[in-house]
Amino acid sequence: MLDVTSRKDETTARLAPVLSVENLTTSFRTDSGWKSVVRNMSFDIAPRETVAIVGESGSGKSVTSLSIMRLLQKGASRIEGKIRLGGKDLLSLSDEEMRGVRGKDIAMIFQEPMTSLNPIFPIGNQIAEALTVHQSLTRSQARAEVTRLLEKVRIPNAASRFDEYPHQFSGGMRQRVMIAMALASRPKLLIADEPTTALDVTIQGQILDLIKTLQDEEGMAVLFITHDMGVVAEVSDRTLVMFRGDIVEMGTTDDIFHRGKHPYTRALLAAVP
Ligand code: ADP
Ligand code: MG
Repeated sequence: MLDVTSRKDETTARLAPVLSVENLTTSFRTDSGWKSVVRNMSFDIAPRETVAIVGESGSGKSVTSLSIMRLLQKGASRIEGKIRLGGKDLLSLSDEEMRGVRGKDIAMIFQEPMTSLNPIFPIGNQIAEALTVHQSLTRSQARAEVTRLLEKVRIPNAASRFDEYPHQFSGGMRQRVMIAMALASRPKLLIADEPTTALDVTIQGQILDLIKTLQDEEGMAVLFITHDMGVVAEVSDRTLVMFRGDIVEMGTTDDIFHRGKHPYTRALLAAVP
């Protein structure tokens, strides 16, 4: 078992993990057979903890998150190992049960919020949709809840923006809308896959601050995926360094920064301004 001591709170190490990944190996079908792009990955995330996966483009970060969400195309991909969320063994759930987990227990935000928002519907309706699928709310209750969520992600004049369309929001504001949608189901785990990569540096900082604040308020665990060591330093308690499908180093973020040993970790650190 790995040392899961977090710098946030030493006691989190003794709480049952929210997510536990054991020997995850994900492969894709190729002309010459199955090719693994994530190999033997094991880690867990405690309640309220943020674990970062850092690595260059193509190292297998997104495939890891898509494996946890079971969003890879069946037939073309193979996921081996164990993924546990709370009491559930995700790889043994039916598709129907897994849809329930995706709608309720895990939420995900991505790099480019525009691709996840439908351009022809007002954003208030889209957030309300995320709510009413899982709760039986009346229209006026849903509207009040959407406003509460928009306020929670610090969108100014939240109530008046319900009927606006995605293109009327800036990139940073759209990411806030996506975070509001992700919070709608009160997930146990938030997976953030490069959520700030497409944003200007000052906006990046605001979104990172927002995620940290919301994590404190909501108590969720966060899996934060990034290629940027500067972002890792900002957000994570523990960090996994991934290189071409393998975890090459794992530890508290403080350890990785001050005592990282693997040559690839050292190279990533040398690139931090
Ligand atoms: P990143 O760390 O940049 O998120 P990915 O997890 O997206 O990297 O990709 C890891 C590797 O898996 C890459 O070599 C990529 O080309 C490959 N890959 C990703 N998705 C697929 C797919 N659907 N089919 C085949 N190969 C894939
Ligand atoms: Mg990726």
